[in-house]
Amino acid sequence: MEFARRLADIPPYLFAELNQKKARMIAEGIDVIDLSIGDPVPELPTPDHIVEVLREAALRPEYQNYPDYNGCPEFRQAVAEYYRRRFNVELDWASEVTALNGAKEGLAHLIWAVIDKGDVALVPDPGYPVYATQVRLAGGAPHFMPLTEANGFKPDLDQIPAKVAEAARLMIINYPNNPTGAVVEAAYIQEVVDFCRQRDIILCYDNAYAETTFDGYVAPSVLEFDGAMEIAVETYSLSKPFNMTGWRIGAAVGNRKIIDALRRIKTNVDTGVFTPVQLAAVHALKSSPETVFSRSNSVYERRRDAALAGFSSLGWELPVTKGSFYIWLPVPEGHDGGSFAQLLLEELAVVVAPGATWGSNGMNYVRVALTVEEERIREAIQRMKDAGIRGFISAGAAAGISPV
Ligand SMILES: *Cc1c(COP(=O)(O)O)cnc(C)c1O
Repeated sequence: MEFARRLADIPPYLFAELNQKKARMIAEGIDVIDLSIGDPVPELPTPDHIVEVLREAALRPEYQNYPDYNGCPEFRQAVAEYYRRRFNVELDWASEVTALNGAKEGLAHLIWAVIDKGDVALVPDPGYPVYATQVRLAGGAPHFMPLTEANGFKPDLDQIPAKVAEAARLMIINYPNNPTGAVVEAAYIQEVVDFCRQRDIILCYDNAYAETTFDGYVAPSVLEFDGAMEIAVETYSLSKPFNMTGWRIGAAVGNRKIIDALRRIKTNVDTGVFTPVQLAAVHALKSSPETVFSRSNSVYERRRDAALAGFSSLGWELPVTKGSFYIWLPVPEGHDGGSFAQLLLEELAVVVAPGATWGSNGMNYVRVALTVEEERIREAIQRMKDAGIRGFISAGAAAGISPV
């Protein structure tokens, strides 16, 4: 057998080995605490009133056929209505909204609609792995924009070489950010929009955590900003805010030429989203979604506070994350993210994700997901405390554990 050469361009899945070990330990009856998973479900299930709409619609033959390629009118109208209410953004539902089989699908196909062989795409490092992998699969060249503590986990636009910026076709950013938990101020988003407009770069704004925010912070849509509609597309997902990760439903919204290009790829790959899933999503968006968000967010906020207090008691001084459900933890000296994750798993049966999963700037981090109960987070930190693990306040601070 021979397979496509492009498979060689897909980086190895860094989780694979950890996952195997984790599975072995669970099979041996060890109490494993898994803080590596970016999925709120099943700890927080999809609200019953949403499931109920799916159940009733699924029974009806008129919804069991091939769905509308672009999303049924009810869904697209509900998204447009939601954007008006939530972001004060006006969208033409017919041409500026399209349904996605989850934001991940939309991001992947958007990249195929924009990137040809040799084209440059500006992507964050660390970043959601789909961005760089799909750019490579499309034959393009990702140019990595570092997200570091020093730049507040925001790409420093001045650091993008002029030639690269001129050549770039696409920029992708994501706030509230996975994996760093960073949010950005409005002025910065306007700067990014202006930067892309001046250079005719298509801006893709991955807004998967638009509703997952704390301490009164309200995340914007990129489409709120001056000129964004000329060059930007945003992916919105129901997965995280409505605890609907398994349902596969989201939307791409924004510039109609970009939406049209995306549809041209999609109509040749998938055939839309099961109509009952769309109708359940319509119901989710219309029936006081804020209640669902605030219930989940108060849970994440409590878990975050417990995690930050716990890490602080181990010597870590960390920024207070205002969005997403992750903590981006710099690892103690003498470790990289991989060796630290291995230590936590083998010695303490605690699973965290090595930061390099999201890019080379994640090398010395692990990502802690707040997707398990507060008690389990406390227990994981207690295990670290009992093992003498120490965090640090500044570079060079002594780490209490030796490398493995
Ligand atoms: C979860 C996630 C997505 C994908 O969301 P789906 O709608 O479930 O495909 C996209 N981007 C980021 C940054 C995510 O964390």
